[in-house]
Amino acid sequence: MTELAFTHTEAERMSAAARDALLADPGFGNVFTEHMVSVIWTKDAGWHNAEVIPYGPIPMDPASSVLHYGQEIFEGMKAYRRADGSIVTFRPEANARRLNESAVRLALPEIPEELFVAAVQALVSVDADWVPSGADQSLYLRPFMIADESFLGVRAAERARFMIIASPAGPYFSGGVKPVSIWLSQDLSRAGRGGTGAAKCGGNYAASLLPQQVAAENGCQQVLFTDSATVDTIDELGGMNLFLVRADGTLLTPRLNGNILDGITRRSLIQLAEDRGHTVEQRDITVSEWREGVANGSITEAFACGTAAVITPIGQLKSPGFAIDFGAGAPGALTMSLREELTGIQFGTREDRHNWLTEI
Ligand code: PMP
Repeated sequence: MTELAFTHTEAERMSAAARDALLADPGFGNVFTEHMVSVIWTKDAGWHNAEVIPYGPIPMDPASSVLHYGQEIFEGMKAYRRADGSIVTFRPEANARRLNESAVRLALPEIPEELFVAAVQALVSVDADWVPSGADQSLYLRPFMIADESFLGVRAAERARFMIIASPAGPYFSGGVKPVSIWLSQDLSRAGRGGTGAAKCGGNYAASLLPQQVAAENGCQQVLFTDSATVDTIDELGGMNLFLVRADGTLLTPRLNGNILDGITRRSLIQLAEDRGHTVEQRDITVSEWREGVANGSITEAFACGTAAVITPIGQLKSPGFAIDFGAGAPGALTMSLREELTGIQFGTREDRHNWLTEI
């Protein structure tokens, strides 16, 4: 446990009936719980003022660095309610470590891993009633850190704030898991060599919004980014990592090349696939290789993965020059079986043999 204890200011609570009405169909990112975590960092005093406080607006000076230079990082993770009523989080220490890797790249302070995990525990315990129990529902947690020093000079801020907010989330796919179409973005990039692609910082997502709009205009739900230099080497989707499956059962996924996020779902699926005896190749993969593999039958499945949607089967790859369909509109067998195994571990219907769960 951390030395820093959280003080708790109780919010005015909603009635159980009003809360349950919100939990019935929360969608994603619309509904927030009654409390939030805040911890302050200053260059002189380090981390202090750890609080669980009522959810609400935060006072912010208009000169705060985050508003001008985007010095911000975040994480995305979930708390799950198991059939026996207990609540667990999935690999929270991995999110803590990744936040700190992002912090280094964005010149923000690192937060002790045990303080991060204690903050998650503190918030989820206080708002435990907000962890939904419906099928495929969970409590999405959004830890983030902002530079909030009031100073317009361009340098790393000397004051920052770490916060966690929580949002009950429904199943990502309302009508069941369906393959999505993805748009190949080769003219607009989200990352380049030496950039911030491997960090989870707001700027990467700002850069992905225009290509995401182009994707939507072309009837696609997601964007696939390629390496900005070769425009053929596959990086990742706007908010998910990518896997291909070969007919011989080998899985292929882009290596951690510095441009892509080290996804915790990606890492977990590599482990589960290897446990089953599959070979997983982490290497450079090109769009050309993918297209040829689909054409000659050697690549049989494709899926994207991340915390929000777990696994999303890919049914179509589109670009200005071509459109290829795979799987005849149905998710692949290995795709669905890995999805079932991972969600089974998270919701407690399968054994947590790698000790990925932390009980609240
Ligand atoms: N890539 C990007 C760009 C993402 O935003 C995410 C979601 N955090 C992922 C991959 C998947 O990461 P994870 O499995 O840790 O959610």
